[in-house]
Amino acid sequence: MSDTRNSRRQNGHDAFETTDQEELLKRGLVRVSIAADGVDPLLDRQLKELRSALRSDAPPFKLADLMPDLEHAVLTADSARQNNLQRISLNLRQLAEQLQELDPPKDAAKTLRQLLKRLDKPIEYASKIPDLLDDLVDVQGQALNPNQEMSAPGLWTRLFGRATDQAEEPEQQPAQSNGEIVQVPGNLAGEEHNYSAIAANIEGILLNLLSELQVVDAQVSQAERLREQVTRGLNWYELAAVLDELGLLILSAQNERQADFERYLQQLNKRLAQFQGNLEAAHDAYNNTLEAGRALEGAIRNQVEDLHDDVRDASDLDALKANVEAKLDALLSNVDQARHLREQHEQEVAERLQVMVERIKVMEVEAQTFRKHLEEQRERAMVDSLTGLPNRAGLQKRMEEEFDRWQRYGGQLLLAVLDVDHFKSINDNFGHLAGDKVLRLIAQQLSRRLRKTDFIGRFGGEEFVLLMPGTSSAQGHVVLEELRSGIEACPFHFKSERVPITISLGYTEFRADDSLDEVFDRADRAMYRAKDDGRNRLICAD
Ligand code: GH3
Ligand code: MG
Ligand code: MG
Repeated sequence: MSDTRNSRRQNGHDAFETTDQEELLKRGLVRVSIAADGVDPLLDRQLKELRSALRSDAPPFKLADLMPDLEHAVLTADSARQNNLQRISLNLRQLAEQLQELDPPKDAAKTLRQLLKRLDKPIEYASKIPDLLDDLVDVQGQALNPNQEMSAPGLWTRLFGRATDQAEEPEQQPAQSNGEIVQVPGNLAGEEHNYSAIAANIEGILLNLLSELQVVDAQVSQAERLREQVTRGLNWYELAAVLDELGLLILSAQNERQADFERYLQQLNKRLAQFQGNLEAAHDAYNNTLEAGRALEGAIRNQVEDLHDDVRDASDLDALKANVEAKLDALLSNVDQARHLREQHEQEVAERLQVMVERIKVMEVEAQTFRKHLEEQRERAMVDSLTGLPNRAGLQKRMEEEFDRWQRYGGQLLLAVLDVDHFKSINDNFGHLAGDKVLRLIAQQLSRRLRKTDFIGRFGGEEFVLLMPGTSSAQGHVVLEELRSGIEACPFHFKSERVPITISLGYTEFRADDSLDEVFDRADRAMYRAKDDGRNRLICAD
């Protein structure tokens, strides 16, 4: 009897642990945990542990033990975003270095050194950026205005923006501001003179910073407005305001994405807690039913033993008959009750599992939506919004991939750097919107003319980078020459006036023992030689 009971218990237990529904639940949870993979290595580890616990049929309390660590990992997962911060830090560093090149007065030089030292360390929180930008604005004031207190900009400058460097351009040049052609007066303050010497560099860096910045939908127009403002050109009073605004934009972009991620994690956490609660309840219910079953079995056994005693000690047949009948009735009723209890238990388990299956389905849908959202964000971060080409991050990723492939399998790989000639004058003559349009058209023309295996990305500003696998210098020369002459022949028009656009290119093959940086520098130097030699040409570095 007791063997039978044990084996029944055993069977009952197995039936509970290995039902198809529970398997489905576990698989569901495993898949949900996979959806959160790839955000952070620590989180990945915790999720892996959760998955292996689920796969090895660990009991609910084991799962409960994993929860605190999982929660911790989830909260630290956003460290992946530090990468973004590092890129911003690099750009800020370049800005500070530009100022350093101006050979600022002692105090400013010291502050700059301190700022650069702070930028040596990675920026830990996005909230630090506005402070750094504030300091940069201050030190810029000191560096550019060594002899006098910062004076308010003249009315003319405030009205019409950018000042021109008169020393380099003795003839007054028409400057573009807010879509109108205006003249800039000759007597510029010394600090503006200093600033205008590095304005183009600072603007280039700011434009890079803006194109690297991943903004959420609600901030697109603000970022776009800032970009236009920078492209139009800034005087150095405007620069301070733009840096301020950029700081706020970076901060709120980070906060938005952080909040998004945290919302999802909280949701996931809540669902996991619900799920765990359900598993525990199912386990408790199962234990209770086991107890009740055991009690019933005890009662039945007692009744059978009583019956046995009655038969053994019976002296009167009629009395025995009545006794046995009564006891058999009671026994049958107990057996019925046991069957009923078992059915009730089975139904409860089935219902509970059904609830869990529904929850898992919801979790799966949520995880899928979030994963899609993440993938979209990841992809958007790799694409330049103006031209639709891969941006610097996309380019970097592809260059590393092609470089790895080249190192592993050998063969030929060609890299070209391409820069639009006198692009600044397009902005100056026709306005930055026309400049933007030209950039879009050039990107279109270039991608249309490239071969399927070639890759093009916007490196920044009006510079593009091409990667051509399986291509020798000689073959590359033919393709690139077609690109150059194609762009030259392209009928760009502004208000029905033909606008000639040309590009200069430098290219090089990857050579044994090259690093990516070396190849890039070689092509870049060749491109500058093409500029020096008169532009609208290509030069091979080899
Ligand atoms: P070079 O032939 O020597 O390359 O002369 P350049 O005028 O093309 O070179 P420079 O680097 O002096 O100027 C590049 C200009 O491109 C300055 C910057 O304002 C402008 N620029 C950079 N990014 C954008 C952009 O996204 N849109 C527009 N409209 N202009 C941009
Ligand atoms: Mg350039
Ligand atoms: Mg150029």
